[in-house]
Amino acid sequence: MAEHIKTKVLVVGGGPGGYVAGIRAGQLGLDTVVVDGDRLGGTCLIRGCIPSKAIIHAAEMFEQMSHAAAKGGHVGISLSEPPKLDLAATVKWKEGIVDRLNSGVTGLLKRAKVRVVSGWAKFSDAKTCAVGDITITAEHVILATGSDPVELPHLKFGGDVISSTGALDLAALPKRLAVVGGGYIGLELGIALRKLGAEVTVVEAAERILPTYDKQLTAPVAQWLKKNGVEVLVSTKAQGFAGGALTVEGPDGKKTDIKADKVLVAVGRKPRTEGWGLENMGVDLAGRFVKVDDQCRTSMRDVWAIGDLVGEPMLAHKASAQGEMVAEIIAGHKRRFNPVAIPAVCFTEPEIVSVGLGPEDKVNGEVLNASFPWAANGRAMTLEGADNGGFVRIIARKDDHRLLGIQAVGRNVSELSGEFAMALEMGATIEDITGIIHAHPTLSEGFFEAALRTLGHGIHV
Ligand code: FAD
Ligand code: NAD
Repeated sequence: MAEHIKTKVLVVGGGPGGYVAGIRAGQLGLDTVVVDGDRLGGTCLIRGCIPSKAIIHAAEMFEQMSHAAAKGGHVGISLSEPPKLDLAATVKWKEGIVDRLNSGVTGLLKRAKVRVVSGWAKFSDAKTCAVGDITITAEHVILATGSDPVELPHLKFGGDVISSTGALDLAALPKRLAVVGGGYIGLELGIALRKLGAEVTVVEAAERILPTYDKQLTAPVAQWLKKNGVEVLVSTKAQGFAGGALTVEGPDGKKTDIKADKVLVAVGRKPRTEGWGLENMGVDLAGRFVKVDDQCRTSMRDVWAIGDLVGEPMLAHKASAQGEMVAEIIAGHKRRFNPVAIPAVCFTEPEIVSVGLGPEDKVNGEVLNASFPWAANGRAMTLEGADNGGFVRIIARKDDHRLLGIQAVGRNVSELSGEFAMALEMGATIEDITGIIHAHPTLSEGFFEAALRTLGHGIHV
């Protein structure tokens, strides 16, 4: 039966941007409706951040057990037989985590008294959309439709050419996997599938892998790939896939065939701006993204946009921060989106974290730049993370010692991203860090030691 809902706030998309906006709006007492055509949680929860980290964890376990089953065992532990992989069971376990989080989000929205409408929204004007036979009119519209994987014209998704979504739902481990794109997804998932036993080749168009991070930071990942038999072809472009072979063209123009059972194409993501009536809303674009100001206002009054739809970095925590902010602005709070830094973490082997400026960024004035190697950190040794070439690095202004950037590459360094971001966001100086007692034995002592080294007097190196 046709229904007309009139609401204060309509959120389109229930990903980490949209559902957080919905919960916060509900908490603030705003009459709110969230619409999603899929399960709540968005790319991140259903087919992105969470499922990929689950598979990465399982792959780590499998690798460690394989080491224990090798001749002589590992760290004094030996297994009499190599571990067996039942990938379908691993995928089922991963789905259990996704289900738990999906019902968690559903419960949180319910508790915040937010109405959830399931279905695809199609806008006829800036404030009106249809979801099936339901019409929704709102005073404020928050667009949070997210992004989709980029498809290459000569490598269309389908069959054995898969996107990250397919790679997270494999029925069986491919014997040979070709990965097109050596960025976040290609390397996080390529490394996990290598650990599970697949033969992996990475085809990257740029001159090096993970081109958004500086070379020093990605070197330990490149070293792991080499040591573990992952072939990396840089300055190389994929041409097409036929008869179980991916044809690639190298920097010299020479064509080669790479045998592959599956091809994972991970060459970036594009904002979801088509197919839901954005063109009827009178909202301006900035390049391929929806244009917003520092409050996430679009060019149309009381239409807001957040998350992957509005630009880089396309990260879940940025989407959520914008969602929370927009709900508060609608409720009358004074807020702006101007973070000093948004942390970026790559869950490769080893992990990479980067917050703020790197050594290749332009800075007015002189900088101090010092790093501390995990090889000299006790906790890293106990985690078997001291011999991978990893380090933590600080970049600070020479004149007032204010921190400008912090990066690390090493085992479990993702967990340091909070301290790094807090230091930059609070405007910390090197002395603020060296004045804090860091618990022993932890990786955070490496950050403390890097700060000491910036001052020229590291203790443990
Ligand atoms: P999305 O999460 O894409 O959500 C958009 C939602 O809108 C979807 O649920 C969709 O169904 C819905 N929708 C779209 N159009 C309509 C419509 N017309 N009507 C109704 N519903 C609609 N980021 C990190 O920070 N850390 C990570 O570790 C990480 N890992 C990732 C791993 C993978 C494999 C992938 C693919 C991405 C990963 N990301 C990660 C990126 C992260 O998933 C995105 O940045 C994040 O999901 C963006 O949130 P969003 O709310 O903007 O959009
Ligand atoms: P990406 O931008 O990280 O990497 C794409 C890579 O593909 C780049 O290195 C690029 O040079 C390369 N490339 C582009 N065209 C190519 C071609 N024709 N042939 C070969 N290589 C080509 O994109 P992604 O890995 O698809 O991930 C998409 C986005 O999702 C990321 O940018 C990030 O915002 C998000 N993400 C984040 C995380 C995380 O936070 N840990 C994990 C996964 C995804």
